Amino acid sequence: MQTGEASDARAGLVVALDGPASSGKSSVGAAAAAELGYRFCDTGLLYRAVTWLALHRDISADDASGLVGLVSEIDLLDDGRGRLSHVAVDGVDRTDDVRGPAVDVAVSAYSAVSELRLALLTRQRHLASAGRIVMAGRDIGTIVLPDADLKLFLDASVEERARRRILERGIDPASDAGAEIVAELKRRDALDSTRAIAPLKAADDAVIIRTDGNAIEDTIRQVVQAIRTAEPARAADGAGAADGAAPTTPAEPEPRRPRRPERAARAPRRPIEPTPIATRSTVLIRFGSMILRSIARAIVRFRVEGNLAALPKSGPMIMAANHASSADPVLIGAFLNQVLGRPLNWLGKREIVEFPLTGWAFRIAGIHPVDREAADLEAFRTAMRILEAGQTLAVFPEGTRSKDGALQQVREGVGMLALRSGAPVLPVAVVDSDILWPRGQLLPHYGKRVTVRYGAPFVVADELAAQGLPVRGRQATEAATRLIMARIAALLPPRQRGVYAGDVTVGGAAEGA
Ligand code: C5P
Repeated sequence: MQTGEASDARAGLVVALDGPASSGKSSVGAAAAAELGYRFCDTGLLYRAVTWLALHRDISADDASGLVGLVSEIDLLDDGRGRLSHVAVDGVDRTDDVRGPAVDVAVSAYSAVSELRLALLTRQRHLASAGRIVMAGRDIGTIVLPDADLKLFLDASVEERARRRILERGIDPASDAGAEIVAELKRRDALDSTRAIAPLKAADDAVIIRTDGNAIEDTIRQVVQAIRTAEPARAADGAGAADGAAPTTPAEPEPRRPRRPERAARAPRRPIEPTPIATRSTVLIRFGSMILRSIARAIVRFRVEGNLAALPKSGPMIMAANHASSADPVLIGAFLNQVLGRPLNWLGKREIVEFPLTGWAFRIAGIHPVDREAADLEAFRTAMRILEAGQTLAVFPEGTRSKDGALQQVREGVGMLALRSGAPVLPVAVVDSDILWPRGQLLPHYGKRVTVRYGAPFVVADELAAQGLPVRGRQATEAATRLIMARIAALLPPRQRGVYAGDVTVGGAAEGA
């Protein structure tokens, strides 16, 4: 790879190659990369090596920091042709060990630990930064490299994948061991695709390659072809012209302007421009909030309840509220800004901050754009940045507006943030905003009554500890999330408590509801 290909003037792409277990990503990816003079990286080896080491050291999936500590002991090995298809643990090649059945069984549980994923994310992005690479995994197109030039997703039925694995391992398909392979693949698929963070799924703009009935050579040919077809498109962009010069030496990451062959008409995604953290109530924020308060008061019969004087005026805080209408951010933000004497920082879809004029206003108002395709980890990092800067982060843990005004099941991001940051959580309930402005309606109704209820801020880890619950690990994250939602539910009327109705006692008294 360092010789012939080094003089190759073709533009090199960053290719994401995702797919479920035994879909052929590793063998197809490595072979296609070799044919094209690309580097190859099998990210599954990283998760496998951590799992192998964790099993040896008796570190459970609940011990996130123990797992993160293992990452520095693991290195992917270059086969001399730019292919990272082997893994070393503490300098010893353990590729065969990490591909063994013990790791097969345990790896998905370990891979679901978000702190570990975060630690491996930087490593994977660094590996891809020199370009001209095929990177195989589960979340490469969605999370690790959302701006990849080309995203491929290899898929095959579980029966087909089991058949291949059985052949590979020389097992009798009718034996117990054969049946166990099918069961294990199904279990791993289920765990990998339902985990809360970075689940296995094809990116919206991925090319899906179904491989049932294909010989491996056919699939390799298809992948090579897809990459070759995409190369001229990017070369025409001019962005990859220098790639061929030093494909295996990590260099300064070039600014990439992605283009996808099957969607040539679509505008390439630009990198997100981060919003500075809002730390002061500037004249513009105060003036904008005043106008929004006047509009809200003119339209809504509005009440605020809770001990606002007791809210902390400095230090990090997570404001977590239910989300039932488009009015919620205004009904909270424009009023809470004033009480706290400092702005809130929000996470928002990148689209809303990219309209020319409103986008500018939203950025000024402390809205931080998050790319939906990379939402989980990027959002988490941005949120942590805000809290580490000692500011207030405003979140709707439900993510989207509820269809019926009642609380929906949430993912665990908010609990994890609360535990990781140690910031107090301020539970907030916006009561009846779904009646004021139902989903699907262009404008709000006039004269409806809406109450915003503020609960008492609390530190989640303290409350869990007081209840004798763990404060670290996955169970703690789950319990923290439930506790936060229970506190919000307790402030809502029964009609709006939704899936957290039964948890209200977990969170203590139903304050004011
Ligand atoms: O690809 P492979 O089957 O070797 O991956 C082993 C496991 O590592 C997967 O089942 C999955 O749980 C995890 N993995 C992941 N994200 C990746 C690659 C692998 O979660 N990018």
